[in-house]
Amino acid sequence: MARACSAAGRDAADVTLVAVSKTQPADALRVLAQAGQVAFGENYLQEALTKQAALADLPLQWHFIGPIQSNKTRDIAARFDWVHSVERLKIAQRLNDQRPAEAPPLSVCVQVNVSREASKSGCAPGELAALAAAIAELPRLRLRGLMAIPAPIAQSADPAQPYRLLREAFEALRALGLPVDTLSMGMSDDFELAITHGATHVRVGSALFGPRPSNPL
Ligand SMILES: *Cc1c(COP(=O)(O)O)cnc(C)c1O
Repeated sequence: MARACSAAGRDAADVTLVAVSKTQPADALRVLAQAGQVAFGENYLQEALTKQAALADLPLQWHFIGPIQSNKTRDIAARFDWVHSVERLKIAQRLNDQRPAEAPPLSVCVQVNVSREASKSGCAPGELAALAAAIAELPRLRLRGLMAIPAPIAQSADPAQPYRLLREAFEALRALGLPVDTLSMGMSDDFELAITHGATHVRVGSALFGPRPSNPL
């Protein structure tokens, strides 16, 4: 990350590492936390709640990065600091309504389908401006920016295209006056490219923890 920042003329402090810990046991997170890692990303609610309980003695920041079903929003709103994977207004409204009054507003990113594959989740780029503007009005949410999972580099003719697209969508929201500050893109295989294109948060799992256990918790 430091090398990629320096090559891009960026300050390393401007890119946050979210350690993606899905399927990793709590002890593996504890080891990273002891090395100074604060932000952890989880995809599966039940698994995340178990680990949060086991690690409650540590001052960690929890990021929900997986698909969200309506019946999971209450716990996500109560137990997470960030949600990267909001793709519909209905889910945003539920998170807003269910965010506990004593907690600060929940930081959220809108997930955008930048590779335009029918199978990938995320809102369509053409629907983004309206969705983001509606989320920005919700008082218990804080719209932070955009998230994407670009198609694997080897599969695309122009690997940088989805990163540029997300960056442009981000700039377009700023031009509309939305106070966004977050571009969540880049995983183990593409975080350097993502940093080149302006990522502020990279979500890295296997490059930190090694291969994911085949037998999840
Ligand atoms: C699993 C996952 C990651 C991390 O993937 P790695 O390739 O292990 O770095 C990042 N973002 C999301 C949304 C994921 O589901």
